[in-house]
Amino acid sequence: MKLTVLGSGTSHGVPVIACNCKVCKSGDKKDNRLRASALLSIKDVSGDRNFLIDVGPDFREQALRINLCKLDAVFLTHPHADHIHGIDDLRIFSHKNSSAMNCDERLSKKFPETAGKGLAMYMSSDSEKCVKTNFHYIFMTHEKGGGTPKLNIIDVDSYSEKNPLELGELCVVPVPMEHGCIKTTGWIFSKKLNGKKHSIAYLTDCNFISENSLNRVKNACSDGILDHLVIDALRADKHSSHNNFDQALFYADKIGAVHTWFTHLSHDFLHGEIQDYIDKKLPEFTNLQKIVENGGTVSPAFDGLELDCK
Ligand SMILES: [Zn+2]
Ligand SMILES: [Zn+2]
Ligand SMILES: [Zn+2]
Repeated sequence: MKLTVLGSGTSHGVPVIACNCKVCKSGDKKDNRLRASALLSIKDVSGDRNFLIDVGPDFREQALRINLCKLDAVFLTHPHADHIHGIDDLRIFSHKNSSAMNCDERLSKKFPETAGKGLAMYMSSDSEKCVKTNFHYIFMTHEKGGGTPKLNIIDVDSYSEKNPLELGELCVVPVPMEHGCIKTTGWIFSKKLNGKKHSIAYLTDCNFISENSLNRVKNACSDGILDHLVIDALRADKHSSHNNFDQALFYADKIGAVHTWFTHLSHDFLHGEIQDYIDKKLPEFTNLQKIVENGGTVSPAFDGLELDCK
């Protein structure tokens, strides 16, 4: 099971249009941040499968960068523009049952319409309402031929750590979070590897995670290892709807993953400066400090980062 960070940037992306700050002008690739998204890839008895988390305005570029040829489902955190405005680019994967498809096959078949319900897209009922309103044309009756993606929206409100979504050998648990005045969905992905359960948690966008939701993360991973936590951490200063760095460290300390990664990063800090900030603050977070002393890490994510479970 591997998670690839496709975008580690906030809603503007970095560089920000028309900004001349040192981060936006940086030559370090790690300071070039597309809008937040990730790809979970697994191999199991169902074959090689790819699951996309969020489909923002940079999805096309992100898919081309990694030569994405197959997509099995999409998990949506919430319907803000920076997480969903690439939705039309799902056409490539929704106009044919994408499993067992490769690029050559797809080209030879000229994108036939999917026979079934379309590409599975998992989200909360709140997100579903918003998606169906904002992208109404997708769900209206329209001519055949494929100007719109064919999507099968699946409501995940009833799933929890006690009742996970089971997709073959992959277990998925949604985590309700708050992001200013809207509710968002974090995701925990778990799979057995060599007889042991491994998990990855992806928690953005948020600025509040309730005790119940923190317990959900802990319970979902309690009988195995939480290898990676990817968490919203916008900048050092407070923000009305995103974790700042200290809030991200606070939640990461409670969750206790082996490796914690900051994402949804703004242009306030260079990649190296974020790491310096974390290293300086770490002694205030005793659980994280202990994890780092035992070989764990707390670091800013960057585009292209690949997180493996071992
Ligand atoms: Zn966002
Ligand atoms: Zn800037
Ligand atoms: Zn948002």
